[in-house]
Amino acid sequence: MNASRVSKNIYLIDTLSLGFRETVAAYLILGDKYALVDMGYASSLESLLKGIRETGVNPSELDYLIPTHVHLDHVGSLGHLSRIAGDAEVLAHPRAVKHIVNPSRLMESVRSVFGEKAELFGELLPTESGRVRAVNDYERLDLGSLTLTLIHSPGHAPHQITVLVEEEKALITGDAVSIDYPYFPVQIPTTPPPSYSHEEALETLRKLKRLNPRTYLRPHFGAKRQDGYLDQQIELLNWWRDLIGKALEKGMDRGGVIRHVMEMVAGKAGVEVERLPTPVKVDIEVSVSGMIKYLQR
Ligand SMILES: [Zn+2]
Repeated sequence: MNASRVSKNIYLIDTLSLGFRETVAAYLILGDKYALVDMGYASSLESLLKGIRETGVNPSELDYLIPTHVHLDHVGSLGHLSRIAGDAEVLAHPRAVKHIVNPSRLMESVRSVFGEKAELFGELLPTESGRVRAVNDYERLDLGSLTLTLIHSPGHAPHQITVLVEEEKALITGDAVSIDYPYFPVQIPTTPPPSYSHEEALETLRKLKRLNPRTYLRPHFGAKRQDGYLDQQIELLNWWRDLIGKALEKGMDRGGVIRHVMEMVAGKAGVEVERLPTPVKVDIEVSVSGMIKYLQR
């Protein structure tokens, strides 16, 4: 099964990203209308569709497609899905819209970060501009029996929103919070290139705190209920910035910092560096690179 129920009206769908379980999730919200928040890589489209069908919904019936931001593990399958769900409206951050309508620059930037590996993510197809709408900060979306609030949430990327399901006080976090795989005991902050902003990421976490969420629905990965969770996320981001900042001050280059952080994370997890799960290694590489870029800006 790719779909599992995380609350009365919300399903988590495991997109089986690049063949890995419990790594990239999408969330399907079933009010009188149906909204899908995040949709995984284009190369995971079949797993996503299977998961949607498991909930009893036909993918063609989706009313709203809401990518939290335009990184390929969140938005990759959108163009394909918008063709399958021919009446669905796409809602996104104002700065995300142009990339959804014309993904060529986005694909270029992904190739510059990931090189040949980018091909594994699949191809992002364009969505017609008439079907894509930029949302205002705190815009509310009526699904009939449920209401969503869409919140501008920059930091991880300038084009990010998060989604509060009001009746359930459940927050779909996008990458405003750290990566926390069920199969790995250490959380990894999500601070990728090219535009991570530490100030904005902290400001977003403080903004989200004011909504008093009860449940956090995370793309990487799963539902979390924990008092003080967002305060912990603020601490983690500051710890990460200091860790990488101090390594740079010692004169380490990017490769050196990545090795240093991998050793530290592996130590915390009690495993050898070679035994770190592949998604964790990739996340460390990407997040260290983005933090270095931020610190040197
Ligand atoms: Zn992201």
